[in-house]
Amino acid sequence: MVSVEQKAEIRKARRSTAFTRRPVAPRLEAVLYKPFPVLDCGFVRVVDYMGDDSSIVQAARVSYGRGTKRVSDDRGLIRYLMRHRHTTPFEMAELKLHVKLPIFVARQWIRHRTANVNEISARYSIIEDEFYIPALDAVAEQSTSSRQGRGDVLAPRAAAKVRELLRRESERSYKNYQTLLGSKRRRSHFGIARELARVSLTLNTYTEWYWKINLHNLFNFLELRTDAHAQFEIRAYAEAISKIVKLWVPTAHEAFVDYRQHSLNLSRQALVVLRKMINGEQVTQESSGLSGREWREFIESFGPSVDKNAS
Ligand SMILES: Cc1cc2nc3c(=O)[nH]c(=O)nc-3n(C[C@H](O)[C@H](O)[C@H](O)COP(=O)(O)OP(=O)(O)OC[C@H]3O[C@@H](n4cnc5c(N)ncnc54)[C@H](O)[C@@H]3O)c2cc1C
Repeated sequence: MVSVEQKAEIRKARRSTAFTRRPVAPRLEAVLYKPFPVLDCGFVRVVDYMGDDSSIVQAARVSYGRGTKRVSDDRGLIRYLMRHRHTTPFEMAELKLHVKLPIFVARQWIRHRTANVNEISARYSIIEDEFYIPALDAVAEQSTSSRQGRGDVLAPRAAAKVRELLRRESERSYKNYQTLLGSKRRRSHFGIARELARVSLTLNTYTEWYWKINLHNLFNFLELRTDAHAQFEIRAYAEAISKIVKLWVPTAHEAFVDYRQHSLNLSRQALVVLRKMINGEQVTQESSGLSGREWREFIESFGPSVDKNAS
């Protein structure tokens, strides 16, 4: 959550404006610095950005000026670049975010190596007592079909008990953290270094970082982390960032949604199967050359129309 002092800093930052000759994205300017809430205490906010849709076009045309022709030409070019994975023009636009996120989400996020990160130091600062407690409808059983996912949501009473257990455990660990840090006024003064005392914190404790990434790498991140296979909590952040990207580079975002986010990669064997089905041939998993899992994913992707030709 954003404290009263932090809100005042954000308000102050939003009051100051500067003249610039650089391209600006008006819809992103309108939300610059504003925190977009994510999960119970987290947020994402844009701290800075470089470029807009026209910067992608400008780089692709290696222009002397803004590089923009007609809007329809620019849209066509951006879609062409996205379709054919001509990726470097997208690297010319950059986004810098301030993110507040639970440590277990940060562990997944940090695997995306093509970004620049600076995280709050728990060696230097005392971590706040803010913990992620999943909402009732996010407390779900272990999935039986996937080892990495969630299945049915728990009944509200059971989910409330889970939430309570997590809250109690987080608060107990935080109390230990405070005891280890100590206070000269208290008798239980250990005075342990912050870098060591933090080991008692739970993984749902919130951390913060600045995260800077170019648009090409950001699209990679969004493709993986808005996917249904990504964990719900990191997906919540990816979806918030996706909305921000739509405000910033609407044409590139549209192309990303069409050609990457909601597109499908088919193997050579799957294409053969699809062609056979289009020609009315019956195909079975055994005759398809696909493994059981590939076959299931194939059928799920195309739905009942393809299912009719599958036996
Ligand atoms: C649903 C899901 C489940 C996952 N499960 C696990 C898991 O169980 N265990 C686990 O450890 N991880 C897991 N991951 C993390 C995953 O393996 C990747 O580490 C993560 O998604 C980052 O992807 P990336 O490497 O493409 O991203 P980035 O690090 O941003 O890299 C982008 C691209 O740059 C190139 N690149 C960057 N660095 C190098 C390098 N050093 N060498 C070669 N090429 C490089 C690659 O082409 C890469 O695709 C999971 C991810 C997802 C989305």
